[in-house]
Amino acid sequence: MTGCKALAMTGSMVLAVMLLLMPAACAPAAPMAVDKIGVMVTVLPQVEFVTAVGGGKVEVTAMVPPGANPHTYEVTPAQMAKLSTAKVYFKVGSPIEFELTWLDKLTAQNEDMKVVDCNKGSNKGIEWMQSSDPDEPGIDPHTWTSPQNVKIMVNNICAGLVQLDTVNKSYYEANRDSYLQKLEALDSDIKLALAGAVNRTFIVYHPAWGYFAREYGLQQLGIEKEGKEPQAAYMARLINEAREKNIRVIFVSPQFDTRSAEAIAHEIGGRVVSIDPEGRDYLDNMRKVAAAFGEALK
Ligand SMILES: [Zn+2]
Repeated sequence: MTGCKALAMTGSMVLAVMLLLMPAACAPAAPMAVDKIGVMVTVLPQVEFVTAVGGGKVEVTAMVPPGANPHTYEVTPAQMAKLSTAKVYFKVGSPIEFELTWLDKLTAQNEDMKVVDCNKGSNKGIEWMQSSDPDEPGIDPHTWTSPQNVKIMVNNICAGLVQLDTVNKSYYEANRDSYLQKLEALDSDIKLALAGAVNRTFIVYHPAWGYFAREYGLQQLGIEKEGKEPQAAYMARLINEAREKNIRVIFVSPQFDTRSAEAIAHEIGGRVVSIDPEGRDYLDNMRKVAAAFGEALK
């Protein structure tokens, strides 16, 4: 400590600066007070949500990596090992297969890890909806495709971080409020992008956009049947519907094979457009998605 004191005695300005630097400069080599909170999430968009609220105080890892499919993804041994450093897991909280299959195994691996449900918390929670496929009843798990739902997720993430790290409550809450404003701006931009959408029905291979469709008055028709390629009869029905409704674009997402989407697009003389329901940069990605919908539906 004497070295620091000596350095601090070189004039009032320098003294002030040195006093600011002292805690870091003179700290022992032991772990610093600024150790980041290890956070696990399921899907990539949640990385942005947690980082937006937690800022430099968190280190966030998504269990389902870029390009992987959260309905079928299997955890690797390296991920299992990484899990031991996590303090908290923010689960989507919808019936998404990854969490149904893996969450119990993950929490057994690290019993000290707190699990926070992004779906519920102190709010009334996200209102779930049935999947758009009448032949495949069940809850649509892709809750985050609606920015209004993300607001609920972000509130829950903030509450979870405050519980873990009460000292920084005002930091997390200010970050939360700033991100909530960005979500509000995103919502306005999506409405603007869709303002000219005459045709409100769209076809997509993997029906991940139910909450987005509900929020913005669109109707989703999925090609995939119970997680598999559809039968020829169903393909024919979709092609008819596309012709009737003058649908020109078939949406796909990077996690899935596009062959049946291309076949339909070919039949209707349309094209295939890729949009990603699991894009990591949520705000940017959703603006791209909205632009793609606006273009396809006008
Ligand atoms: Zn999906």
